[in-house]
Amino acid sequence: MSAALKTAKTLYKTPALVTHRIRCGKRTCHCATGEGHGPYWFLHWREGTVQRRRYVRHADVPAVRTMIERRRRDDSENRLAVALATVNLRRLRAWLRDLDPTA
Ligand SMILES: [Zn+2]
Repeated sequence: MSAALKTAKTLYKTPALVTHRIRCGKRTCHCATGEGHGPYWFLHWREGTVQRRRYVRHADVPAVRTMIERRRRDDSENRLAVALATVNLRRLRAWLRDLDPTA
C-alpha cells in the first residue's frame, strides 16, 4: 500500500483529495509568470490550525479516491446511526421520566 493510500485509509479523519499547480521557483521558468506545473494531486487535512498535505502519485489516485469515497460513506452512515441513537435515547429518557417523575 502506498504512503498516500495509507494516509487516506488510516488518518484520524478523512482527508480531501485535491489538485494543485506548483511553481518551481526558477525565475526563468514559464510557471513564474504563467500557469504552474501540474496539476498534481495531494491529500489535504487540517491538524488544529495547521494545514497539512501529502503528495499522491498519479498512479495512486484511483485507489486513494476510492478509499476516501468509502470513508465518506461510512462517516455519513455513522453520523446517521448516532443521530437515530440520540433520538431513541431522548425518547427512552422521556419514557423513564414518565415512569418515575422523581428520577
Ligand atoms: Zn517552473
